[in-house]
Amino acid sequence: MSVSQNLLQKYAELIVRTGANVRPGQVVQLTISVEQHDFAALVVEECYKAGAKKVNVEWTFDRQSKLNYLYAQEDTLATVLPWEEEKLRQMVSDLPVRIYIASEDPDAMSGVDPEKLSAVMRRRGAVIKPYRNAIDGKHQWCIAAYPSVKWAKKCFPEASDEEAVDRLWDAILKTVRVREGNDPVAAWKEHTDFIEKKAAWLNAQAFASLRYKSANGTDFTVDLIPGARWEGAGALNPVNQAFYIPNMPTEEIFTSPIAGKCEGTLVAVKPLSWNSQLIEDFSITFKNGRAVSCKAAKGQELLEKMIAMDEGAAMLGEVALVPKESPVNQCGFLFYETLFDENACCHCALGAGFKEVLPGGDDLTVEEAREKGINDSIIHVDFMVGADDLFIDGVRADGSTEPIFRHGTWA
Ligand code: ZN
Repeated sequence: MSVSQNLLQKYAELIVRTGANVRPGQVVQLTISVEQHDFAALVVEECYKAGAKKVNVEWTFDRQSKLNYLYAQEDTLATVLPWEEEKLRQMVSDLPVRIYIASEDPDAMSGVDPEKLSAVMRRRGAVIKPYRNAIDGKHQWCIAAYPSVKWAKKCFPEASDEEAVDRLWDAILKTVRVREGNDPVAAWKEHTDFIEKKAAWLNAQAFASLRYKSANGTDFTVDLIPGARWEGAGALNPVNQAFYIPNMPTEEIFTSPIAGKCEGTLVAVKPLSWNSQLIEDFSITFKNGRAVSCKAAKGQELLEKMIAMDEGAAMLGEVALVPKESPVNQCGFLFYETLFDENACCHCALGAGFKEVLPGGDDLTVEEAREKGINDSIIHVDFMVGADDLFIDGVRADGSTEPIFRHGTWA
């Protein structure tokens, strides 16, 4: 591996200090693959140096997960055991800082019956969701990435293992603004300031709806929730006022639109990787706020299944603005990982919305948030609509309009 120890150290520090912003006395839960145990040790040590009371590591191992799906029964896999629920209860009372290091092989689950995979996800999701809701908006979290060989080879199949990992490292470090000799903390300050300025402008405009248009067939209008905020880059943990950055990298400014209030067609500009499978060249058409039809050159059945996962899966939970100059987009390849791919250009997400964009949203129950227009679902799947010629107009309640995006970037 050619990435220097110095860069790894800077990256681990950035994740813990700037990303998760671990505060003295906090419990940290680190989720990371067994393959990245050396980096796990760096992150754990950084957490303790930041004053963590205890760091727990949740090891993942995608080869084992696949074997479970191949050999164990659906019922067995779908059952959340009492000790697992006890752990979830503990999480609700500890409100740990959660750090997740993504490094999965995008094809980890290939060969597994997708029916079984989504059934297990759905059934486990239903049990886990109340616990997830209970910690939502009450804890700091950060997702960052570490390249595994399999993931790197998926992105660069023609390269040798070593070369592929080097290229993926290059791309990751570029997108998280870590370089030899630079101060990534200062770089992130500048980046988050820019995003917050844009978000503040959008909030001041108080647009009632957005209008999307591009030559590929995107022709779409979505209504926004009055008073809902545009957010980006960072978030504040209301429990201790710690400012944290949930995603590294992050380029987006997002909000949750009114569930069930959109019309028209969105055409995807990049393939979507869902449950280790690709959906390519697709479009989704909405009527009365619900996806009523979809067309995909590849993965049609998968896309239909996704939209039918539950009541909320056919409605939007997110609209996000990302200029085409995003460093993720500049990398010019598909990462097969939402953390990166959703930061390439403008996107929307089917499924769950974010109640925290509502004033006082953190304290609302899911039902209360739903009444105010925030979508609810066990899925949240982002798909990219940011064509290079995308126009987005903001429409105010009085009908006046304002350009937001022109030719795929800020107007
Ligand atoms: Zn997003």
